[in-house]
Amino acid sequence: MSLQAQSLPYVRAISPYLPGKPITELAREMGIPVEKIVKLASNENPLGMSPKARVAVEAAISGIERYPDQFDLIKAVADRSGVAQNQVVLGNGSNDVLDLIARVFLAPGRSAIFAQHAFAVYPLATLSTGAELIATPAKNYGHDLAAMLAAIRPDTRIIWIANPNNPTGNFLPYPEVCAFLEAVPKDVVVVLDEAYNEYIPPAERVDTGEWIKDFPNLVVTRTFSKIFGLAGLRVGYALASQAIADLMNRVRQPFNVNNLAIAAAVAALDDHQFVADSYELNRRGMEQIVAGLKRLGLEHIPSHGNFVTFKAGDGAAVNQKLLKQGVIVRPIGGYGLPEWLRVTIGKEPENARFLEALEKAF
Ligand SMILES: *Cc1c(COP(=O)(O)O)cnc(C)c1O
Repeated sequence: MSLQAQSLPYVRAISPYLPGKPITELAREMGIPVEKIVKLASNENPLGMSPKARVAVEAAISGIERYPDQFDLIKAVADRSGVAQNQVVLGNGSNDVLDLIARVFLAPGRSAIFAQHAFAVYPLATLSTGAELIATPAKNYGHDLAAMLAAIRPDTRIIWIANPNNPTGNFLPYPEVCAFLEAVPKDVVVVLDEAYNEYIPPAERVDTGEWIKDFPNLVVTRTFSKIFGLAGLRVGYALASQAIADLMNRVRQPFNVNNLAIAAAVAALDDHQFVADSYELNRRGMEQIVAGLKRLGLEHIPSHGNFVTFKAGDGAAVNQKLLKQGVIVRPIGGYGLPEWLRVTIGKEPENARFLEALEKAF
C-alpha cells in the first residue's frame, strides 16, 4: 500500500486553506515593486501594530532564551473580560484555540454544525478530527440560526458561529444569539468566534464573556490579529467555563504562545488610543469603499467587520485585473461565492487605489 493510502482518509479529503496572496509573491510574479502594491486581502490592520506593543516586543527580546510564561496575558484578558483566570485559554492565533476545542469534543462518529459561507477554519478544525461536518444553508449570506438549531443531531458536539462572519461580514444581533443559546441543548458546545468584536459599533456590542455563567456550553474566541494589529505574531484566546478551559489546556501545547506575542498582546490590550484610532479609520474607510462600490453600481453585503464583500460578476477575472494593477483583494470562490470578492478596509489612499483599479477592471 502506498504511503499516501496509509494516511487517514478524512485528512486526505480536506481542501487546503487558501491564504491571501502575500505582497512579496505578487511582486515576484508580476515584477511590480513591493512599495507599489496595495494588499487588502487578509483583514490586517492598515495602521500596523500599536506603538506600545512595539516597545513591549523590543523589550521582550531580552529574555528570549527563556520558555514563555503566559501569566501576564491570561491575567490581562481575564481582568478585561470579567472571567476568572482559569477560564482563559491562549492560542497561537485564535485558529489554534478553535483547533483545541475541536480536539476536545470531536472524533469520528460525532458531528459539528457550521453555516454555508462561514469561516474556512471551522471545516478544517472539524474534518481533521474525523468528525462529520453539517453545513446549513445561509440566510442572506449569513448564519440561519433556526436552520442550525434544526440541524442538531444526537451526535452533534459543536456549533461554530462567527459574529461578524468572515468572509461575508454579516452580523447577528446579540439578542438573537442569546435566544439561540437558550434553545441549544446544554451538552452541545457553541463556539462564538468574535475575531472582529472590536469593530462592532459600541451600541450593538455585548460582553459575551459575561454570558458564560449562564451558558457553560458557550466558548467565546477573540484574536489579536485584527484590530490589535498583531497577525504576524499569532496570538488569540478563548473564554470558556472552567471545565471546558481545563480540557482545552490538556490538549494545548504547553508553550503555544511565544514570549514576544505575549508581551505585545498585553501592551496592545492596554493601548485604548490605538484601538480607537483603528476603529475610526475603519468606520471612515468603510464609508469610502461602500460609496465607491455604489458609484460603480456594484452590490455589497453590509459588513460589521474591517472588510466588505461585493459582487464582481466573474470574481476570478476581476481579481486578475486587480492583481495586474498591483491591488490584492480576496477571491472567495472557495467559500461558494465565485461571483464575489472581499476587500479589507485600508487607509484612505489605499481604498482610493482599490476603487480606481476596480473601475479600470470593468
Ligand atoms: C481572522 C479571523 C480569525 C483570527 O485568526 P487568528 O488565528 O487569530 O489570526 C478567527 N476567526 C475569524 C472568523 C477570522 O476572520
